[in-house]
Amino acid sequence: MIFHKPLPQYYSKKDFALGTWVNVKVAGNKINSEKLADIAFDEMKRIERKFSKNIKGSVIWELNEKRSIIADKETLFLMKAAINYADLTGGAFDPAIGALVKLWGFDDMNSPKRVPSKDEINNALKGISYKFIKIEGNKISLLNDETMIDLGGIAKGYAVDMAINKIKSLDPKATGFIDAGGDIGIIGPKFNRFPWVIGIRDPDGNPYDIKLQIYLKEGAIVTSGNYERYFEKDGVRYHHLIDPKTGYPANFYKSVSIISDSAMKADAMSTAIFILGDKLPDIDSMMQYDIQIYGITSDNKIIKTTGFDYYLKK
Ligand code: ADP
Ligand code: MG
Repeated sequence: MIFHKPLPQYYSKKDFALGTWVNVKVAGNKINSEKLADIAFDEMKRIERKFSKNIKGSVIWELNEKRSIIADKETLFLMKAAINYADLTGGAFDPAIGALVKLWGFDDMNSPKRVPSKDEINNALKGISYKFIKIEGNKISLLNDETMIDLGGIAKGYAVDMAINKIKSLDPKATGFIDAGGDIGIIGPKFNRFPWVIGIRDPDGNPYDIKLQIYLKEGAIVTSGNYERYFEKDGVRYHHLIDPKTGYPANFYKSVSIISDSAMKADAMSTAIFILGDKLPDIDSMMQYDIQIYGITSDNKIIKTTGFDYYLKK
């Protein structure tokens, strides 16, 4: 007689973290699934407390306040990663975007949203460049008085990666996924065998309208969209993905989804490619960074890398 191992039992936990609703779906192999979900949330909340610019006493709050800090290994890693993505994308992704994000009111859910004046934008632009971040040994300093760090475009992806690492270090055969408001990382394939079916949202629909489905067994998919945080003024939509060169929201894409082995990389690169828009004439050139891209433009064209289609098959 053949005895089959029972199928893993998935446990789902939904909670608010990292400024968004997060869903953890996990089945442990040697550790209780509910416990693994709690461990994932503890890790994501730890990272939020440490790197949110809005939480008094966080490392980034302190850096913006004191202009220079002695940083621990993890902070140095994340700041260097952010600077690296800024370098790779010619500054389209820029962790020194803080002053602009604040000016538009996207720094906090409760901040009043408004269209700033040209003067205000030009003034904020003076401090916007990752080149004003200096790292010497374990010291991080801001070289321009206007510069404010905002890791909102990378920290969520990093938190998803770290929560998955934590689960895997305790229970290597655990499976499932973490969905942090569009930043999705895979813990392991469904029932150890099947890909997870992930919907990419229709930017013009409501949150449950799906444009297409992809199948993912490992790695991450992250989407940056103009529907995440925005306001409308005189019939124009202003959203939270801001071009560091102009100071205004970028408008070539409605959404950009990135598949990659790391959620952190996919997070930073989805923001960057959204901003780059048509300044990136050859999308396939981005495959050198081991990412696949699916973008929906403002005029509803699809721009994707040739490797993306691999994920459309079961
Ligand atoms: P979300 O999942 O909230 O849409 P994104 O990864 O798309 O997150 O990043 C949006 C956040 O990144 C903004 O709220 C802001 O904090 C920050 N941001 C905005 N523009 C840029 C930029 N050009 N470079 C880096 N970070 C940015
Ligand atoms: Mg991002």
